[in-house]
Amino acid sequence: MAIYISLQATLSRIEAACVRFQRDPAEVSLLPVSKTFPAEALREAFAAGARCFGENYVQEALDKIEALIDLRPQLQWHLIGPLQSNKTRVVAEHFDWVHSIDRLRIAERLSAQRPPELPPLNVCIQVNVSGEASKSGVAPDEAATLAQAVAALPRLSLRGVMAVPEPLDDFEAQRQPHRRVAQLYQALRAQGLALDTLSLGMSADLEAAIAEGATLVRVGSAIFGHRPRSPAAEDKS
Ligand SMILES: *Cc1c(COP(=O)(O)O)cnc(C)c1O
Repeated sequence: MAIYISLQATLSRIEAACVRFQRDPAEVSLLPVSKTFPAEALREAFAAGARCFGENYVQEALDKIEALIDLRPQLQWHLIGPLQSNKTRVVAEHFDWVHSIDRLRIAERLSAQRPPELPPLNVCIQVNVSGEASKSGVAPDEAATLAQAVAALPRLSLRGVMAVPEPLDDFEAQRQPHRRVAQLYQALRAQGLALDTLSLGMSADLEAAIAEGATLVRVGSAIFGHRPRSPAAEDKS
């Protein structure tokens, strides 16, 4: 019941932001981020209408995909955390989306390892827009080269750009990094890449992301609750 209410509240926030910033609500989708929460919580979210989940840690996600195998045909699984090359095969086999492509080698492996009976794997280029050395993502000035190379891979479908801007409290301040990602996204489209996904915005900044053009917001704690600590944080892959 609690997840039903928080999911509805999040959808209401998205809708209100669309009204406020004159966005078409049909162009903004919600990706519930379920990292660290057990499969039962995802089942509850499914009952409340969720049909996709974002996960950060490969092994944790595989366990949940297996636990929810009865729902598999109705679900889309998105990897939004960093991906190491030794995990690409299981990701290519089990996920529908990967948002965190930040180097060509990972994309090449995913394309080569995507099983032929599955549709191409949907991917986004992750851009490091706030420029912090610790964060994943390609530098903005290298994004176009990477995007063109990824778009040419046969078993991937390049859908867009993802970013995790630095957390800022102030709404107007939040809009600045979101705007830089949105401008990069539009520049890639202007180069002829058929992109439809700007993956931007989380629990604390989804309004700023929608204001700047996000088409997919990734929301965890506002739906599933507070994450006191991440049990999988030591194994970031
Ligand atoms: C955890 C996470 C989210 C969700 O964050 P919340 O603040 O809980 O909404 C979104 N995107 C990425 C990449 C994450 O790691």
